[in-house]
Amino acid sequence: MNKVIVRGEKARFTCLRCAKCCSSGPNVALTVYDICRISKYLGISWRDLAGKYFYVVIADHIPIAILRGLGDKCVFLNIHKNTAACSIYPARPLRCRLFPFMPLSPSETSKMEISSICPGIGRGDNIDPPWNDLELYVREVKDHYSRLFKLIFQENSDPLKALEILLDETCKVS
Ligand code: SF4
Ligand code: SF4
Repeated sequence: MNKVIVRGEKARFTCLRCAKCCSSGPNVALTVYDICRISKYLGISWRDLAGKYFYVVIADHIPIAILRGLGDKCVFLNIHKNTAACSIYPARPLRCRLFPFMPLSPSETSKMEISSICPGIGRGDNIDPPWNDLELYVREVKDHYSRLFKLIFQENSDPLKALEILLDETCKVS
């Protein structure tokens, strides 16, 4: 079971670079901010990432962008001579940046869960959890969904078209 940590507490953690977190299948949801940071880092348009590096599912009229997997590994995971590395590390999605700490909800900024699958937990020094990244994550998720809901439910945009508009607007200024 995942432990919950609150502000003020520290946790022992060191990343063992085992890539377990990047090998559990394509399950990382992306905001438009994540996609624009990756596109800027790779020097390509978000349109060139679509399909190849992320795909979109539509649930209840809401488009959700998800990192693609190659088999059971993330499409951005490089494995060379038994060493695993994220090929977009400086621009990896916020969910990846936070891991093994995980948001409890899209608005909670004083508590986080600690993943029980990460073997680096309980090792190394006591560290402060990444509260600043959690605050950024909450701001971006709120902004992403409020802009998306406005386009879809107030302006009657088709869900995919709404995501496209949002990506065009966000990537232009980021
Ligand atoms: S599962 Fe934990 S120890 Fe392994 S790479 Fe991910 S964060 Fe690091
Ligand atoms: S984007 Fe990078 S850190 Fe995130 S799951 Fe893929 S390889 Fe791992």
